[in-house]
Amino acid sequence: MARIAIKAAVVERPGAPFQIERLEIDPPGPGQVLVRIRACGICHTDMVMRDGALPIPFPVVLGHEGAGIVEAVGSGVRHVGPGDAVLLSFHSCGVCPACHVHQPGYCSDFVPRNFLGIRQPGEGGLWRGGAPVGGNIFGQSAFASHALAHRDNVVKVDADLPLELLAPLGCGIQTGAGTVLETLRVAPGESIAILGAGAVGLSALMAAVIAGAGRIAVIDRHPHRLDLARELGATQAAGDLADLDGLFDYIVDTTGVLALLGPAVARLAQRGTLALVAAYPPGTGVLDAAAVMSMGRRIVGVVEGGVDPQRFIPRLIGYYREGRLPVDRLVRCYDFADVEAAFGLSQDGYVVKAVLCL
Ligand SMILES: [Zn+2]
Ligand SMILES: [Zn+2]
Repeated sequence: MARIAIKAAVVERPGAPFQIERLEIDPPGPGQVLVRIRACGICHTDMVMRDGALPIPFPVVLGHEGAGIVEAVGSGVRHVGPGDAVLLSFHSCGVCPACHVHQPGYCSDFVPRNFLGIRQPGEGGLWRGGAPVGGNIFGQSAFASHALAHRDNVVKVDADLPLELLAPLGCGIQTGAGTVLETLRVAPGESIAILGAGAVGLSALMAAVIAGAGRIAVIDRHPHRLDLARELGATQAAGDLADLDGLFDYIVDTTGVLALLGPAVARLAQRGTLALVAAYPPGTGVLDAAAVMSMGRRIVGVVEGGVDPQRFIPRLIGYYREGRLPVDRLVRCYDFADVEAAFGLSQDGYVVKAVLCL
């Protein structure tokens, strides 16, 4: 099998617009899976990467909520084959201690495999006129007609499922839902506050409803997102943490706003837990150690929900089929050619989860 021509959205340099171009992609190497992409969600991390805030290889093809149909597999891939419908998730090494206990979000190789796009010996990549193009972001780079993913981040799904609605399960939705269901393990009747009603926050909210949480509060700057939060089961929705009533067993921060974290700790109940789920700027000075210690409170960092996508995505699909994970309420589809416009609408907070459809 030779290199094939593909269509991809290339970002030439930090902050540059997406340009849809013709590139070439290698055949799948050992452990790789060539996927014809049908849909790919736009995630906040794509915006951070596009703006150059992470050390990714420019020019680059972003996109890490891919979904599509397997075209070919490399050696050592047995769980999927050509024609299978698949969702793509983040990449991990599969052999380190964290991967060994099904916690690939804490893989010792997470940064090189997801942010830096480092390829292992023999693995295929992307090319433009004989020069390499940055790919393999989150082990996929799925803002393209085709992507090379890997054995561990390709999840097989039933052929009847709507890939354009379920593509975001691989990052944003599993991050919010996994935090509530797998990392925090919220129990029936417990209280939770969710800071930020984007795709991650609203997925945490849907998961809190699934978990049978009692009080479920949501804060966000956008009134239309607060309306949606109420429709999805929030018992209180407000513009500010100070407007919420009472203390909470759990608080999930999806905003990344450091100034919110001190006040959030103060709103934790005794032995309550604050989950840090967002991307945070470097910096400290938010911790009131006495307020944490004396109340037995906990603060936990969470990457990708703390889940193993191979196990958790099928669980989420089960909730979707039961009507308990109405992701269609979050998703709006855009033509691949409109990638720039879709990014703008996501950045402004107008759209909760934009999905590019090919
Ligand atoms: Zn993401
Ligand atoms: Zn690992």
